[in-house]
Amino acid sequence: MRMLVTGGAGFIGSHLCERLVNEGHDVLCLDNFFTGSKRNIAGLLDNPRFELIRHDVTTPVLLEVDRIFNLACPASPIHYQYNPVKTTKTSVMGAINMLGLAKRVKARILQASTSEVYGDPQVHPQNESYWGNVNTLGPRSCYDEGKRVAETLMMDYHRQNNVDVRIIRIFNTYGPRMAENDGRVVSNFILQALRGEDITVYGKGEQTRSFCFVSDLVEGMLRMMECPDFTGPVNLGNPCETTILEFAEKIIALTGSRSRIVFRPLPADDPKQRRPDITLAKKMLDWEPTVNVDEGLKQTIEYFSSVLSAG
Ligand code: NAD
Ligand code: UDP
Repeated sequence: MRMLVTGGAGFIGSHLCERLVNEGHDVLCLDNFFTGSKRNIAGLLDNPRFELIRHDVTTPVLLEVDRIFNLACPASPIHYQYNPVKTTKTSVMGAINMLGLAKRVKARILQASTSEVYGDPQVHPQNESYWGNVNTLGPRSCYDEGKRVAETLMMDYHRQNNVDVRIIRIFNTYGPRMAENDGRVVSNFILQALRGEDITVYGKGEQTRSFCFVSDLVEGMLRMMECPDFTGPVNLGNPCETTILEFAEKIIALTGSRSRIVFRPLPADDPKQRRPDITLAKKMLDWEPTVNVDEGLKQTIEYFSSVLSAG
């Protein structure tokens, strides 16, 4: 099939492109390189089944495809807060443009939504029927509300125009090719540990997250795309929950680092707890994560070590 992956040069998108090419599909990777990089897709550039298009999803594009994976959007707080107006435009206009394309060529479209649609959740763990607790005015709102509107657009194009849509809500995902400079906890802690710098825990480190390895996520995305008659939304994440302080200690142990833990102010609207309820994914997609956190972190640490030694 002809697969379009928007945001295909990013962290998750590059793993998805690789998997699709390996399965024999023709892959169009569309990216404006805001947070993605050619390095992420370097291994694919010579493959005849892979094509790269430099394009911004906020403007329409004419293509012939069978499937659209809509991932284009910066995902880390420092990147999506760098130009918040553009972040909302990317989610909202990107969804409109990709849905317009899906409608015209009758392609199925999968939207990469996020656990951030649950905001600072008052229901724990989060299941898909929870409507969320999102601040419309804060520094995270451009991302959270943009993604919420994208979900709305998916369902309205589905009801109004019969577009075949799929919505996944991705929880914190990690692995090789995360950007070094994205300020997310996994990349920050591993790089700090490898460099022997202080590990910066925000707040008291009591807030929780649940980390999913990227290959598990990609498997879930493919299953959802090919699942018949199921729009979602469906949570995709690893339910194994940890406090950020425990996570810092784990990274120190796995890297054998001598770094110390230091405490820094908690950013505004930082969700206090997050863990996916994946009952629906298990039932509808027969999916659950298979890579345990120690194994996934080992691969990620090896990746960042090689990035550091390459200078
Ligand atoms: P990423 O920043 O590595 O990838 C995003 C890609 O989108 C980059 O290649 C970037 O250049 C591209 N992009 C950004 N704006 C664009 C635009 N206007 N036009 C075209 N391309 C554009 O982030 P990621 O972690 O790979 O996230 C991919 C998707 O998954 C995002 O939609 C994100 O919201 C979603 N998601 C990720 C996580 C996570 O933990 N990584 C969690 C929830 C949701
Ligand atoms: N965090 C931290 N130190 C860092 C980076 C992040 O303690 O150097 C915390 C952050 O405050 C949040 C959690 O780790 O509570 C996850 O942050 P990240 O930005 O990776 O993802 P998100 O908040 O979007 O889930």
